[in-house]
Amino acid sequence: MISVEDALHKILDVFVPLGQEKVNILSSLGRVIGEDIYASRNIPPRDNSAMDGYAVRWEDTRGASRGKPVVLNVIEDIPAGAIPQKSIGKGESSRIMTGAPVPDGANAIVRVEDTAKHGRRVDVFVQAKRGQDIRLAGEDVRDGELVIARGDVIRPAEIGMLASLGRSFIMVYQRPIVAVLATGDELVDIDDNPNPWQIVSSNSYSLAAQIIDSGGIPLQIGIAKDTREDLVSKFKAALRADVIVSSGGVSVGDYDLVKDVMKEVGNKMQFWRVAMRPGRPLAFGSMGGVPMFGLPGNPVSSMVSFEQFVRPSILKMMGHKNLFRRTVKATIREDITKKKGAKHFIRARVEYKNGRFMVTSTGDQGSGILKSMVRANGLIVLPENSTSAKKGDEVAVQLIDGSLEQTVKPQYP
Ligand code: AMP
Ligand code: MG
Repeated sequence: MISVEDALHKILDVFVPLGQEKVNILSSLGRVIGEDIYASRNIPPRDNSAMDGYAVRWEDTRGASRGKPVVLNVIEDIPAGAIPQKSIGKGESSRIMTGAPVPDGANAIVRVEDTAKHGRRVDVFVQAKRGQDIRLAGEDVRDGELVIARGDVIRPAEIGMLASLGRSFIMVYQRPIVAVLATGDELVDIDDNPNPWQIVSSNSYSLAAQIIDSGGIPLQIGIAKDTREDLVSKFKAALRADVIVSSGGVSVGDYDLVKDVMKEVGNKMQFWRVAMRPGRPLAFGSMGGVPMFGLPGNPVSSMVSFEQFVRPSILKMMGHKNLFRRTVKATIREDITKKKGAKHFIRARVEYKNGRFMVTSTGDQGSGILKSMVRANGLIVLPENSTSAKKGDEVAVQLIDGSLEQTVKPQYP
């Protein structure tokens, strides 16, 4: 028996980030950037106005008030996008719009609300401060500054920054192609009318969805029969992938041939009994240089094993640094008992209430009961040596989706 930690360690050792590819910035959303981005220009490119108003010399506005306005000549109109043609001299001003470049000679902007225009003159009702309402060149980003670092995840803000810097393409780490192969004589595909003794291969789809959710590209190989020939040929069809994930056939039944076939065609295949529940049997190794996971067949076991081992591997291939799900401490609402010796991953519903996480299991924990996975947004993780959790105890819960990031109502302080 091998611990979850040891299995994870051995598995992650095998994976390195894939190569990079050049993508359009909009396609880079959620990807990990493979290059440092230095600013190639100042943003804003030059001093500009933060308000609609008048560009002035602050010295000229000394002592101005509603009762005793200062009168300035208006020598130019500078809409956003225009280049100022005239510089501001003593007693002069230019009408200026938000975002327009500040003309030479001006050192402050007076808001239009603090003025009144009469023909080619303007009354200024307030004394301006030096630099007031001027956005300085480079105050957002300085030419040459490092703005996005290799390894950062690209979000909408990074995409906006790249656009400002005139970058339409960037280098990101590639997405792995992950082959999915279901195995079992009892399996049929969704649209094949199942006989009463047949089972729809739901794993083909839940695993493919987990692959997409992790950022990978699923390659559906389909269903292999429990025969040496079919398994070998289907595994060979999966060889163009970056990773192969199969489900079923790794336990000790007479027809659990996957591990034998993997040993036959694979390299350094290891068959572990991982000290976890669900998901005890796990095969890991490689075939033709392609890393290969043999996950257990039960629908929940395959999903939980994917979560623990395959997802972090995919994230690592994609250049991510944070490979693991967030785990929170939550107060459990019920008593749970377990046997010593394995880590238990208990499907559960977590909510955030009155400043703390509360958690309840979602019912039958049989490894074939997908419904309790459907209801779960987390997995309570109970350690190997524990035998129970009591109502009111704090337990660790791995969050397995983004549901706790969203709320029904806005939450302002
Ligand atoms: P195995 O590990 O092959 O012994 O399978 C364990 C259990 O999981 C059996 O009840 C199988 O019918 C079920 N199972 C295996 N593969 C799948 C699959 N692709 N989709 C749904 N159930 C499966
Ligand atoms: Mg089977």
